[in-house]
Amino acid sequence: MPPIGINLPNEEEIRERYGNKSVSLVNVMDSYGRAVHAKMVDEFFLPEDRALQQKFGSIDDLLQTTMHEVLGHASGKVSDALKGDPRDHLREYYSALEEARAELIALFNFFDPKLVEIGAIPSPEAAEAAYRDYATNDLYLLRRVRHGDVLEDDHMRATHLIVGYLREVTGAIELVRRDGKTYSRVKNIAAMRRGVAELLGTIQRIKGEGDYQAARDLTERYAVRIDPALRDEIVARARQAGVPSYVAFVMPDVVPERAMTGEVWDVHLAYTSDLATQMLKYSGKLPLEEPIPAPSPTGKGR
Ligand SMILES: [Zn+2]
Repeated sequence: MPPIGINLPNEEEIRERYGNKSVSLVNVMDSYGRAVHAKMVDEFFLPEDRALQQKFGSIDDLLQTTMHEVLGHASGKVSDALKGDPRDHLREYYSALEEARAELIALFNFFDPKLVEIGAIPSPEAAEAAYRDYATNDLYLLRRVRHGDVLEDDHMRATHLIVGYLREVTGAIELVRRDGKTYSRVKNIAAMRRGVAELLGTIQRIKGEGDYQAARDLTERYAVRIDPALRDEIVARARQAGVPSYVAFVMPDVVPERAMTGEVWDVHLAYTSDLATQMLKYSGKLPLEEPIPAPSPTGKGR
């Protein structure tokens, strides 16, 4: 599975001094949305929330990822008093908290009127849809956790931390049962926005000061444990509704066009690979390009 966004470098000091670069794989996001989104909305969102998700889901996914990468990971200065990289202080808790921080910066900015002004979202309704989606995200990610009662993935931990905090501390989100199914419901958007800001402040302080104890308390309390009974329900519903846990993608092949001398003078995109062949090429088990036939000696050969 390819990532949907890449942001480098990771080193805080280099980022603060020189900045960083972001790539968004919009084709992957788009394909994923087409494969999964409609079924997901029907199964996991409350009936009254579905129309909003169908309307704004793909715009919101793109914007959440873009703001996560470009505004999220890229921002936030650490304390001048901190020695060394926050990663070395927060150790095993660093990555999940850094993902949560980037997610919260995206959520925090969703209601900024500037987004409507520059045409990034059509209306504040799209921001509301993003919040309702985020609350439900914490439910449907459980379809990927088939065993145990612990989340290992840092992105999942980040989402679970945020939604768990908003549910328990601010009361902005609640779990409800309808027709034998569990849903996540946003009770109060304004309270959710306040909670997002508050938690962002807390996590930024923890990172900026390298506060290991607070990182540990927050992560252990909200990010790690899941309810196995709820997970079993979600896994069964996903299977029933035909919502896959993961989606694999076949990428276009970038095919070089070479001059007689072997020099590349152009490339074109081809859509010929199957997944297995492509993975074998990417892992070096097959050559990326077909070997170039050796020129036949002039006058002889065929
Ligand atoms: Zn990230």
